[in-house]
Amino acid sequence: MLNNEALQEQVGAIELLIRYAVAESEQNLALDFLRIFHKDSFALDIIQDYYRTLPEAREEPLVKISVLESKEQVFLLLLSTNKHHYFYLANDDGGLLLDEWEQGLSAPQVLSFFGYSDHDAFSKQHQSVESCREYVASERLNEDICPSCGAEAGSLHILGCPVEVCPWCGGQLSRCNCRFEQLDVEELTDEKMLNQLEECLANKGRIPYAREQRPSFLAKENTA
Ligand SMILES: [Zn+2]
Ligand SMILES: [Zn+2]
Repeated sequence: MLNNEALQEQVGAIELLIRYAVAESEQNLALDFLRIFHKDSFALDIIQDYYRTLPEAREEPLVKISVLESKEQVFLLLLSTNKHHYFYLANDDGGLLLDEWEQGLSAPQVLSFFGYSDHDAFSKQHQSVESCREYVASERLNEDICPSCGAEAGSLHILGCPVEVCPWCGGQLSRCNCRFEQLDVEELTDEKMLNQLEECLANKGRIPYAREQRPSFLAKENTA
């Protein structure tokens, strides 16, 4: 699904959208920005969605993507044109355009997911558009970050991450039988069992993320 041909096809589809959506005088700006991300499927999905949705039906080229927050593979981004900025929530399943920067972020679930008590607490943390970190092309393919749960090399995965290696058998912790054997149960049914498992794992010593654990299909793609 992530092969070069599919990416090229997606770039072509976005180019077409741009020709319809953006004024002729600004199309080159839009296309130049698109080209930066021609191998980054995460960014391409966002750019494609932007031109499909065209916030407020403004026909402005997208010129910057910034990362405001990220947690458990969910990203709060800021999509910028030369005149406007839009909050955008993205994960591997898709994205959602939220409020404009001027109004501040108001969606309560989004605020609480990223640990903010309210709109004001968020605005305090993110005071200016200029201070937002710009998204770097292909940063999600960065080998020092677990491709599944987002843990950095040397730190623990989020429990349940399919990339985590089992400290008992060396297999895939979310797939092998060790967790049942350790607790002597048929299945894990409640929070209590999960807590017990976490304790067992802590005693045994969990294996932190390392780039060698990346699924091989990703490793191959990076060298292609
Ligand atoms: Zn992980
Ligand atoms: Zn195991």
